[in-house]
Amino acid sequence: MLESPLLKNALGYIDGKWCAAESEKTMPVTNPATGETVAIVPVMGKTETVRAVESASRALSSPATIAQRHEWLGALADLVSSNREELGRIITHEHGKPWKEAQGEAEYAASFFRYYAGCVDHLEPRKLKERPRDLDWTVYSRPAGVVALVTPWNFPLAMLAKKFSAALAADCWSVIKPSSKTPLSVIALFALMEQAGLPPGKANLVLGPAGEISDVLCEHPAVRVISFTGSTGVGKKLMAATAPHLKRLALELGGNAPYIVFDDADVDLAVNNFMLNKFRGAGQTCVCANRLYVQSGIAGEVAEQLASKANALKVGNGMEEGTEMGPLIDLNAFDKVQRHVDDALAKGATRIAGTAPAKPGVKGGCFFPPTVLRGVTTDMECVNDETFGPLAPIIEFSDEEEVIQAANRTEYGLAAYVFTRDDDRAERVISRLSFGHVGHNTGSGPTAEAPFGGMKHSGFGREGGLEGLHDFIEYQTVAGR
Ligand code: NAP
Repeated sequence: MLESPLLKNALGYIDGKWCAAESEKTMPVTNPATGETVAIVPVMGKTETVRAVESASRALSSPATIAQRHEWLGALADLVSSNREELGRIITHEHGKPWKEAQGEAEYAASFFRYYAGCVDHLEPRKLKERPRDLDWTVYSRPAGVVALVTPWNFPLAMLAKKFSAALAADCWSVIKPSSKTPLSVIALFALMEQAGLPPGKANLVLGPAGEISDVLCEHPAVRVISFTGSTGVGKKLMAATAPHLKRLALELGGNAPYIVFDDADVDLAVNNFMLNKFRGAGQTCVCANRLYVQSGIAGEVAEQLASKANALKVGNGMEEGTEMGPLIDLNAFDKVQRHVDDALAKGATRIAGTAPAKPGVKGGCFFPPTVLRGVTTDMECVNDETFGPLAPIIEFSDEEEVIQAANRTEYGLAAYVFTRDDDRAERVISRLSFGHVGHNTGSGPTAEAPFGGMKHSGFGREGGLEGLHDFIEYQTVAGR
């Protein structure tokens, strides 16, 4: 079992109190590197979720001042940042990513609390004058009310920090449901919320698989917003389930990112960025390149560099010194990557990095070697579906129009990357890519300061930037004399 000062209570948190499930049901949290149980946490359901929503609703009657919110957000930024090592250790034990990378996730989470601490002044009432009728108008940014925040396992701390920091800035009251695969980082964040002095009901934590929890969040009239990060399939289910209740949805969903390298690109820059972009989190990030398009003139050089770097990556337990890539989250994830590789090989691709991995045992770690394929074509599964693993399929192209069409040929629209030294070409290509986030000569993902989100089936709503506040605000305009 994982011992941590931030996990003294491996429990849910409702109305300012740590609590178990009324049914006394529990579930294990597994370290994907070792198969060991690192914690046992409650499995909550309808009763606890209703209690959490009611606790948040009661707190609606005690609004917090802008100064108070600024103080809480600032305190959380400092606490998350100063606990980065411990939070990182917890993330590594439940997710598997290398400890250094996990500490980076904690700093990334802190950056959202810090950014929104600096933004709360934008929520002061705005005065307007309407000349012909001589009316005075005031635009108030009211909290949207009780909000449900549902998050995935791939950035167990940061995905919640993005939502919760904006919800807290807007003075909403949250019911939080983390992935049942990785609840510990969020439990640790609740320990820090207690230290930051958040009042009872401001944030409530329910643990367990979605089922009954999700039903309550979708149907309870007090929940006004559901902010969800996860798969497109579940996003669609939430949209259907909330439609009769007219709830506002913010959906951060799956991706199928194209990474385009033109002949005139700086090849070293493109390959080095690709390595960081693709293999971070063992390829289990929504923004990572899923398809690598390389123009024919440099395809051989890119493939060679990439294969040699991928083969050199040190794969292992994230807590071991020198590990550069950890395991996949579970056997399902392993099977999906394996299926994409097998399908591509059967249809004529060539494996130029990685070897066929042994199937993990029940107790074994779900390690998949960084794999690079050449000769990939559009009929292969890895081109059309999010692999969510350490697989880099190289697709060659000859001209600009062809690659724009190919990149957009997906229902997703989250992230894309373009490498070229020609700025005119970059502008031309980027303006035609239907993706919410584009890296030009960089493989970097989002930042707290800028709005991030998807187009098409990658969802709607934005996180980060001032735009990230909108989902949690109801604008009320008052006209008077
Ligand atoms: P997931 O299976 O959709 O689960 C995400 C969350 O939704 C978990 O808390 C899960 O809980 C819950 N959930 C599952 N079924 C639900 C239902 N019917 N109703 C309500 N909630 C439900 O996704 P995941 O496997 O955790 O995450 C990977 C996916 O997230 C990838 O597609 C990735 O691209 C996407 N993602 C997107 C972004 C972005 O910013 N756009 C960021 C990160 C990840 P339980 O599993 O505990 O039941």
